[in-house]
Amino acid sequence: MTGQISCICGAALVEEVTDRGVRPVGGGALIPFRRTTDYVMCERCLRTYDVRSLMARAESAEVIESLEQLADSAEQESSDSA
Ligand SMILES: [Zn+2]
Repeated sequence: MTGQISCICGAALVEEVTDRGVRPVGGGALIPFRRTTDYVMCERCLRTYDVRSLMARAESAEVIESLEQLADSAEQESSDSA
C-alpha cells in the first residue's frame, strides 16, 4: 500500500499512506494513526480527508497500476504473436 495522495486542488497531501500511518510530503517520520477517524488536512485549501478514504484511494491506485501492467503485458503478447 503506497503512493502519493493529492488533494483535488492538486496539492500533495501525503507522500505515502500505509496501514500504519501517513508519511508527510517531502519525507520525514511516519505519522502513526491514532484512530481510524484520523484525518489529514490540505495545506493549500484546508480541505480535510479522512484516513480511510485515503487508504482506499491508495489501494485503488495500486489496483489501477497492476491493471495497467496487465494491459502492457497483454499488448506485448499480442505483438509477439503478430
Ligand atoms: Zn487542497
